[in-house]
Amino acid sequence: MSTPSTPKKLRRIAILTSGGDAPGMNAAIRAAARAALDRGVEVYGVYEGYQGLIDANMKLYKSPRELCNIINKSGTYLYTARCEAFKTPEGMAKVIENCKRRRIDGVIAIGGDGTFRGATDLSKHGIPTIGIPGTIDNDITSTDVTIGFDTAMNTAMNMIDNLRDTCESHARCNVIEVMGRWSGNIALRTGIASGASAIAIPEIPFDEDAAIQKIIAQKEQGKRSFIVVVSEGLVGYAEKLAKTIQEKTAIETKFARLAHIQRGGKPTLQDRLLASELGYTAIQYLFEGKSDIVVCKEDGKIGYKNISDALLVDRMFKKKMTEEEYAALSAEDKEWMEARCAKLLADMQRLYDIANNIC
Ligand code: ADP
Repeated sequence: MSTPSTPKKLRRIAILTSGGDAPGMNAAIRAAARAALDRGVEVYGVYEGYQGLIDANMKLYKSPRELCNIINKSGTYLYTARCEAFKTPEGMAKVIENCKRRRIDGVIAIGGDGTFRGATDLSKHGIPTIGIPGTIDNDITSTDVTIGFDTAMNTAMNMIDNLRDTCESHARCNVIEVMGRWSGNIALRTGIASGASAIAIPEIPFDEDAAIQKIIAQKEQGKRSFIVVVSEGLVGYAEKLAKTIQEKTAIETKFARLAHIQRGGKPTLQDRLLASELGYTAIQYLFEGKSDIVVCKEDGKIGYKNISDALLVDRMFKKKMTEEEYAALSAEDKEWMEARCAKLLADMQRLYDIANNIC
């Protein structure tokens, strides 16, 4: 492999995972660390996210052989934590001091939108930082996919299949809440893949009466087992819906929350591949002198967005953008952000319509 010349300012870099863990994070750590080592740069693996930068809790990797056999492991090898102290001037001062002392002049931060806010703060304090989207929720608007999403969907689908087995034996309905704090991505896709009678997600209005009528009609056609998948983003709704379905259909209806089981498990091939691509490319960008960006995958191509843009388009999609923020956008930014949000919503609507037509 060719070894491009190392820009002088990059002597050592640090890699961390922060926020919620996601299967495939280890593959991203491995790819980024090895790509940096390949360029002759030493790598610190920082434990417990930004907390590890404050506490100087890190390990120096000098050889790619120190990152063996982690690509197939679940969780995050570097552990993760939520760190409020990082947001304070004192916390940041500690981070800067620790980075200077260890000659760290670039950081790769793997996580979700909170992690990217931290990456922006680090970049502003003179430490070039690049974000990699790692979250099972797939709720980062600027990328089509995030690390962990595929594994979480497969885990949820397999759990729902198990529930289906027992529903079929007992002639029951099961309402299952799957993860997705602001997002119906896991619910929509696992709902289709597990043959759900109805799917409820935050992005598209849910017609409860129509769903109940459909379940009644299916029962009359001879169906014995019924699966309804609800996103966690509709806070508290899944449990209520289970009660309503039982009352209105007279079908015994159970509620299940899959919760953190979706965060664990061996990463799928798709997640290992995505994490390897994103981790490797993040290092290329760092060596090109880029900073304060998040690596994204859109329409099959790896690219990047400035973190401020990524956070804004995210706020737009999740309807959290204020009027002031909207008014401050340039015409060009408005155009691509609105197009991006419209595309994501159209993709979801298309899948939602398919789900409703084939159950
Ligand atoms: P995720 O990255 O999965 O969205 P969090 O929102 O918990 O998870 O963020 C992870 C960590 O990123 C936080 O514990 C904190 O250390 C850092 N962080 C979050 N928000 C900010 C912020 N506004 N400014 C600086 N750092 C932040």
